[in-house]
Amino acid sequence: MTHAGRDRGGGDGAARDPLAAYRGMRDPGRTPEPVPPAGPLPEGNDDTFVIQEHHARSLHWDVRLERDGVLVSWAVPKGLPLNPKDNRLAVHTEDHPIDYGSFQGDIPAGEYGGGKVILWDRGRYELEEWTDREVKVVFHGDRAEGRYVFFQTRGSDWMVHRMDGPPFPEWLPLPTGLTPMTATPGPLPSGDRRQWAYELAWAGNRILVAVEGGRIRITDQKVRNAGAAYPELRAMGAELGSTVCLLDGEIVALGRDGRPDSTLLRRRPARDSAPGAKDLREVPITFLAFDLLHQDGHDLTGRPYEERRQALEALGLEGARWGVAPAVPGTGRDALKVAHGLGLDAVVAKRRKSAYRPGDASEDWILVTG
Ligand code: MN
Repeated sequence: MTHAGRDRGGGDGAARDPLAAYRGMRDPGRTPEPVPPAGPLPEGNDDTFVIQEHHARSLHWDVRLERDGVLVSWAVPKGLPLNPKDNRLAVHTEDHPIDYGSFQGDIPAGEYGGGKVILWDRGRYELEEWTDREVKVVFHGDRAEGRYVFFQTRGSDWMVHRMDGPPFPEWLPLPTGLTPMTATPGPLPSGDRRQWAYELAWAGNRILVAVEGGRIRITDQKVRNAGAAYPELRAMGAELGSTVCLLDGEIVALGRDGRPDSTLLRRRPARDSAPGAKDLREVPITFLAFDLLHQDGHDLTGRPYEERRQALEALGLEGARWGVAPAVPGTGRDALKVAHGLGLDAVVAKRRKSAYRPGDASEDWILVTG
């Protein structure tokens, strides 16, 4: 690392200029980023940090620590881990000017790092150890909190590891290996109407989508890792940023009339390889999420349906190719009418107070065909 052991303000001029690499990669006339002229570096207390969420060609979080008048920086593709068992890649990048700590905005496409930069967190850090190969700090931010170590593995490749325990006592990692809860076929539920909510039965491909570090992992009961099957959904991961969640929903293909078309969908089955250009073009898919099983360290499966549904709607899933499956207000008969209008022949009645039971065919969800 260029800054290690450097004399503050001393040295032999341009050859020791820690921002030379930074300036060399940017044209101040073409980027809104701060590009200070060479000269004396500011003096601070070496105790502030900034983390920027950078929607470049590949999403990453830039973690920057104030040190000797610059921001020493790592690009962390999945952001700081919360799980003490994770080591995440952190690529050491060029020192940035202190002024960069307040930068957010759009770097024009085609420029170095083109894309949106969001200030994800800023705050103070405590230094525990700083050597050429290992940096231990405690973050005191609004979002970044706790002890972390950055350690070099090879060249500019470093790893970052959380040295504290989980962020809160009941924190859980994103679960893996869950299978969807399914509905039991039956008639429209009788009795107290207020106990039931209705959704459309889309007759699509049922999938679970895990989102973490801005990346998605798709599982389908027929294909263990269907991650490559629906590249349209990658942007949903980036859009969710650092939100960690597990979504349950269906892939549908909408025909020219805007109705779900199961014949069309059959051309895009879940599989572990990427679809061809022709299928991508001719079979546009949409992901409709209807349940939320985990969010930011909290297991939601034991929470009532109506609460999970509320949390799902609060996620803001609104993209060209993804969204929340609409709830259908009213009675079961009303819901069936809406279904018929879309060319569907069934609805799912869901008991409002019911928990999510992975892998179960439950009578709390009733598939009503009519
Ligand atoms: Mn970056």
